[in-house]
Amino acid sequence: MPDGRSETGSGPRFGFDHSYARDLPGFSVDWAAARVPAPRLFRLNRALAQDLGLDADLLDGALGAGIFSGNLMPADARPVAQAYAGHQFGGFSPHLGDGRALLLGEVIDRAGLRRDIALKGSGPTPFSRRGDGKATLGPVLREYLIGEAMHALGIPTTRALAAVTTGEMVQRETALPGAVLARVAASHIRVGTFQFFAARGEVDRLRLLTGYTLARHYPHLADDPNTALALLDAVVGAQAALIAGWMSVGFIHGVMNTDNMTLSGETIDYGPCAFMDACAPDTVFSSIDQTGRYAYGNQPAIGQWNLARLAETLVPLIDSDADKAIAAATEVLRSYAPRYEARFQSILRAKLGLVRDDREDALLVQRLLALMEAQAADWTLTFRRLSDALRGVPGAVRAQFSQLQALDGWLADWRARVESGPGTPAERASAMDRVNPVVIPRNHSVEAALNAAVAGDAAPFEVLLSALSAPFAGTPGQEHLALPPPRDFTEGFRTFCGT
Ligand code: AMP
Ligand code: MG
Repeated sequence: MPDGRSETGSGPRFGFDHSYARDLPGFSVDWAAARVPAPRLFRLNRALAQDLGLDADLLDGALGAGIFSGNLMPADARPVAQAYAGHQFGGFSPHLGDGRALLLGEVIDRAGLRRDIALKGSGPTPFSRRGDGKATLGPVLREYLIGEAMHALGIPTTRALAAVTTGEMVQRETALPGAVLARVAASHIRVGTFQFFAARGEVDRLRLLTGYTLARHYPHLADDPNTALALLDAVVGAQAALIAGWMSVGFIHGVMNTDNMTLSGETIDYGPCAFMDACAPDTVFSSIDQTGRYAYGNQPAIGQWNLARLAETLVPLIDSDADKAIAAATEVLRSYAPRYEARFQSILRAKLGLVRDDREDALLVQRLLALMEAQAADWTLTFRRLSDALRGVPGAVRAQFSQLQALDGWLADWRARVESGPGTPAERASAMDRVNPVVIPRNHSVEAALNAAVAGDAAPFEVLLSALSAPFAGTPGQEHLALPPPRDFTEGFRTFCGT
């Protein structure tokens, strides 16, 4: 191993398996983390550690700091950097890969699921290109907060296991405190992983990867006569559902490059991501997304574009006759839009307390979304306060709108529709409160928490994290976290790719 790298093998065992490194030779390189000067555990996700069968008490201190900074490897870790390619903002990069991340191994969690444990920010690798291999505290904590929020909202996501500060400063636009994120994922297999081998014409490796991915994420399809087509179909379904989930909570990923799209259907790589406050489909937060390619309203279409890139890599495996393969893949891709739409509509109906899947319900959804957009209503509060309107207190939802005539007309039609359905309005209202969050990671609250943490005060991060972990309940005393940003905040807000 190169100098300045941590030794492997002297920490406690995690019960790791290494199916990716073992079963997929040539897909990753053995590598070691960079040593950091003074690791300190910023936070351990104790509940997640326990879900993974790890000893949270043992890890919640200096030992955890050593391990999750990369300084002290678990005895059974086999750190590897994974190879992948990717379309970034539409342009293809054949060589990306883990430029600042290492997969330590896989554990089987308490539910019997195989989950990767990886470090992000653990130093340069053969894939680093000009990057320094490091991460800084603000973006590490953003990924922690938003991943936990998404998880609590019921949206599939990678999650933070720990955040560690390294005791060194990392140069970005300014010098910032260095940090490492320990991340848990169903796997780190990306559309870009397939693209890496497709671009090199390595069909045998693609076949291996296809079989591995299907067995790991969609084992019920493992016996399908056409493995590649079955995988494509499963991923199309998983991504349609995922992106519908994002859209329902106003989430904007910000960098939907194909290397940031998983085969598992989990959200991955929270960089310049954000949540929409006022309803505006053209909302873009990432400072590097100049053309609005990854704007809120474009996400469903970009999902399809990325899946088409996956389909291209699978063509040689689907059928030896390329025309037949393309026809079959195209048919699967065509199912994306209706699957997305069905899922989105079903989530929206639940948010509105509607129970019938027909044209009239769809029309009510469509009319409300149009009103919200035209009047820049707050996405989260509009849905949440509708249940109060059903309870006879429409003031709070009306306060989200400026032109009340149109809204009142819609409210009357909606109420009549709900009352004609099963259950009492009070029951419908309670059901709505179980799916419409009070608290989401509002950009101004996230920024305030990250800035405080970087300045040495972890308290706002803890308060926000605990509120985000119970998004449907609303934490007493934390009502301010449900509020939209002050007027002057949104204008200047951008999240940067200096992640
Ligand atoms: P991302 O935008 O975080 O999804 O990363 C895109 C690519 O850039 C991946 O290959 C990363 O590993 C790589 N990358 C991002 N930041 C760094 C960094 N500081 N050092 C080395 N590689 C990086
Ligand atoms: Mg990425």
